[in-house]
Amino acid sequence: MTSLETIVNLSRRRGFAFPSSEIYGGLRSAYDYGPLGVELLRNVKNQWWRSMVNTRRDVVGIDSAVIQSRRVWQASGHESVFTDPLVECRQCHQRFRQDKLARPEQCPSCGRRDTFTEPRHFNLMLRTHMGPVETEENLVYLRPETAQGIFINFANVLRVSRRKLPFGVAQIGKSFRNEITPGQFVFRTREFEQMEMEWFCLPSEASQWFEYWVDARRRWYLDLGMNPENLRIRPHGDDELSHYSKETVDVEYRFSWGWDELEGIANRTDFDLRQHSEHSGQDLSYFDQATGTKVVPYVIEPAAGATRTTFAFLIDAYRTEQVRGAQRVVLGLDPRLAPYQVAVLPLSRKPALVEPSSRIADDLGERFSVEFDITQSIGKRYRRQDEIGTPLCVTFDFASLEDQAVTVRDRDTMQQDRVGVDRLRGYLAERLNG
Ligand code: ATP
Repeated sequence: MTSLETIVNLSRRRGFAFPSSEIYGGLRSAYDYGPLGVELLRNVKNQWWRSMVNTRRDVVGIDSAVIQSRRVWQASGHESVFTDPLVECRQCHQRFRQDKLARPEQCPSCGRRDTFTEPRHFNLMLRTHMGPVETEENLVYLRPETAQGIFINFANVLRVSRRKLPFGVAQIGKSFRNEITPGQFVFRTREFEQMEMEWFCLPSEASQWFEYWVDARRRWYLDLGMNPENLRIRPHGDDELSHYSKETVDVEYRFSWGWDELEGIANRTDFDLRQHSEHSGQDLSYFDQATGTKVVPYVIEPAAGATRTTFAFLIDAYRTEQVRGAQRVVLGLDPRLAPYQVAVLPLSRKPALVEPSSRIADDLGERFSVEFDITQSIGKRYRRQDEIGTPLCVTFDFASLEDQAVTVRDRDTMQQDRVGVDRLRGYLAERLNG
């Protein structure tokens, strides 16, 4: 199993993610995504958007503000109940989230037993003030989930999109939680990105849609190449359910520290729309033409973490192999997720090779995400591309000047094909989509 340390090292070495504010000692709350990480993260988000919005006629997207009226969080219940149980060790004064302790009576930091204080309910919302004065009236929160931005726009979206039930509204964006113990690299941070979709349906159909979305979301991970042995669906016990939920499952990944959540899929009932109707005084019901009555829709919510999921895809893709006595590191990412789909590598730095291969890279760049690399020996460049997950490398050598053909090397099989430059685009498209 790939250790956390291996992935953290790879990330730093190759440029997937760096600790935020690193030159000032790091913040332990957030990460900055480097040149490769930003591509991978963006690809994960694009694939989610494509599957949830672009390829469906019954889902639309929005992009709501991070800062919303405080009343949103009063209505949703977050101001009063979005808390984690905080305990402090009386000996070493470290603080922990009680429900995540491996041994409830033992401090993971100093190892002493029975030293914890009584749990305190710690609200996870990050606070700030709007405007120049820091008064209670100006208090606002950075959103802890993207979902509420969808609920408060329910009437707007219904009006402009003229959708009939069932339909969904999707959103990708930053969320913030003042986690008691951020950790495990980008798994738990205080600033992160979510991909959430609220599926509005008739209350009588909610259970059926819940099953539908659990299945659809499971298939999304598998279709993008995640190993089925590392993915499971775990239903919540009654004691775990959130204040709004009737039924929840977690989509979990087998991390090196055990199974942990990538996504929660919940039946939120009509809780949120009713709360916002009541607190805002606006009617957030739906007129059902079939029965001629008003209903408050039920909501099925698949809520995934973009940053956490990106991390899981990275871990899942990592493998090492022995090739002719040497170790090779490969990121077997699906071509739809790989930061670069194609690397163009002139065999030597001689202008006679660099110039034509640079033209090829420009041409391919219109269609694929392409890296152009002229540093080091070809063997080292192949190894680098394997390690960052580039599915195909195109090498331009001296013979290419004669035969107008290049060598295409496959990341997984290491097999090489000679392909004419004039049919390269079509060849690559077929290989990458196939
Ligand atoms: P956890 O139990 O891990 O704290 P949660 O059950 O509170 O998570 P949800 O409220 O269901 O999480 O949020 C939906 C998704 O958002 C999670 O499945 C996860 O992928 C992501 N997420 C939540 N909190 C964080 C965080 N602090 N850092 C990174 N991703 C997060």
